[in-house]
Amino acid sequence: MDASTKNDKNSRNPEPDRMEAGNAAALDFIRAIVAEDMKNNKNGGRVATRFPPEPNGYLHIGHAKAICIDFGIAGEFGGACNLRFDDTNPTKEDVEYVESIQEDVHWLGFDWEGRLYFASDYFERLYEYAVKLIRLGKAYVDSLSADEIRDHRGTLTLPGRESPYRNRSAEENLELFKRMRAGEFEDGTHVLRAKIDMASPNLNMRDPTLYRIRRATHHRTGDAWCIYPMYDFAHSLSDSIEGITHSICTLEFEDHRPLYDWFQEVLQVESRSQQIEFARLNLNYTVMSKRKLLELVQKGLVSGWDDPRMPTLCGLRRRGYTPESIRSFCDRIGVAKRDNVVDVALLEHSLREDLNLRAQRAMSVLRPLRLVIDNFPEDRTEEMQAVNNPEDASAGTRILPFSRELFIEQEDFLENPPKKFFRLAPGRTVRLRYAYLVTCTDVVKNDKGEIVEIHCLYDPESLTGDCAGSPKAKATLHWVSAQHSVPAEVRLYDRLFSVENPVDEKEGKDFKAYLNPNSLEIIRSCRIEPGLAKAKAGERFQFERLGYFCVDPDSRPGVLVFNRTVTLRDAWARIVRSGSH
Ligand code: ATP
Ligand code: MG
Repeated sequence: MDASTKNDKNSRNPEPDRMEAGNAAALDFIRAIVAEDMKNNKNGGRVATRFPPEPNGYLHIGHAKAICIDFGIAGEFGGACNLRFDDTNPTKEDVEYVESIQEDVHWLGFDWEGRLYFASDYFERLYEYAVKLIRLGKAYVDSLSADEIRDHRGTLTLPGRESPYRNRSAEENLELFKRMRAGEFEDGTHVLRAKIDMASPNLNMRDPTLYRIRRATHHRTGDAWCIYPMYDFAHSLSDSIEGITHSICTLEFEDHRPLYDWFQEVLQVESRSQQIEFARLNLNYTVMSKRKLLELVQKGLVSGWDDPRMPTLCGLRRRGYTPESIRSFCDRIGVAKRDNVVDVALLEHSLREDLNLRAQRAMSVLRPLRLVIDNFPEDRTEEMQAVNNPEDASAGTRILPFSRELFIEQEDFLENPPKKFFRLAPGRTVRLRYAYLVTCTDVVKNDKGEIVEIHCLYDPESLTGDCAGSPKAKATLHWVSAQHSVPAEVRLYDRLFSVENPVDEKEGKDFKAYLNPNSLEIIRSCRIEPGLAKAKAGERFQFERLGYFCVDPDSRPGVLVFNRTVTLRDAWARIVRSGSH
């Protein structure tokens, strides 16, 4: 078995890694650490976490995992979780992102209760920390160029070399650092570096850069600063400034932990926090890096960050995902240190499970075929009673108008049906959902030989109210009344990428080469039952036999636009049933 199949198998395991914590309920490894710390009264029994996005893009489903962990753990242990923007890189950041991130965290169902912070609010304090490091002889101004610094860094197998500027006196460093701040030097001419160990096996400890000169307008501090702190420095110290007890982050920061600890140790900060790393969420058929998502947006390969095919929270929301389904998905995948790839079918399964309980059923015909009931009076309309949600009796019933001319789905009729086709065909009887049995008597075609309408006779005695059908009918079809139904546009989605791992650029192919050219199909001539005419953007329905749909904000007066959120076919359930997980 090769590594990828093994990985696949792991990813299909719906039961996350669990660790027994004493005889209490099973806890994941992070919760076990926090529980132990509580027991030992570490941090005075206090639990404080933070969700620390950089405002350089929209949040994606991977961030949802981090949010559920950070806010979830704080909530469960009676602690607090801050929302902190780690906004140390002004050239990539924007208020648009700051706002969308807040909206998305709220939408997901979490609240920072007023504890909204920005690393940029700490710029002055961070500067003071840097000055303190210089005074302690633990930081120096380096005047090598960026290329030279890279050259000196060494490799995993070769130790680095010390900069000729490494032994400047504290006085000289202080003076230069002040002048860096005062804007006396060009961008890139000097940096402030920590003085740690150029021979360290951990490259992060080889005198990492703390500050660089960058004349860029910051979305909050404007032009007040021309030097900006580096992420590791700002992140570690922002955590201690906020009194964060458990600084939970993803595995790629594991090698940064010694540096994180070094800052807190050397600066003798008042409040020390413990960094704990977990495996980031990877989903098959999906790219998750903000840089790549931004590229799709900027190149117009999707309609925007909230394109319903995007794995962003705003994209998933527009697609019709519920916050509950995303939280339940995050719960299912659990928290572990082992890297894996989760099957996107599990996300869709969580969604179906939730929508099945809450989405009102409706009748809609995507590709209409006119069906005329010749023995039904022309001026008559009957009212059929339909169940709104078989999973929820309190959702009640609604009325569907039934008349002589209806629309059914084109694909529900075949003039020459193959053996296994049980739907409508000449001479064949089917049940119309919540209505009568009809028997096809005639097919009308245009000049080109295309079927334009079919004729039927109905059995007036067949209205049972029960859709189980009669011995004569092997299928039940959905339909709408031609004159009563209203037009709609429907957007059907497929995966955005056609391969499981689009970021595997092994064959020299860029991830964009794997975009699925058929990921969006727009059908403009749909008909929906009249009761939906006033549906509002964001409302969700199950169109019987077709899937779950959500009203898109592109809807205009007279034409509702629906996104298909997900089909009814549950690939995950199949995987689990077949025992292949
Ligand atoms: P990306 O790598 O997608 O560009 P990022 O890590 O740069 O994202 P940040 O804004 O730094 O994005 O992320 C904020 C928090 O979300 C961090 O704590 C990060 O570890 C976490 N996070 C980001 N991506 C994932 C993921 N795929 N799974 C779990 N947590 C994630
Ligand atoms: Mg990051």
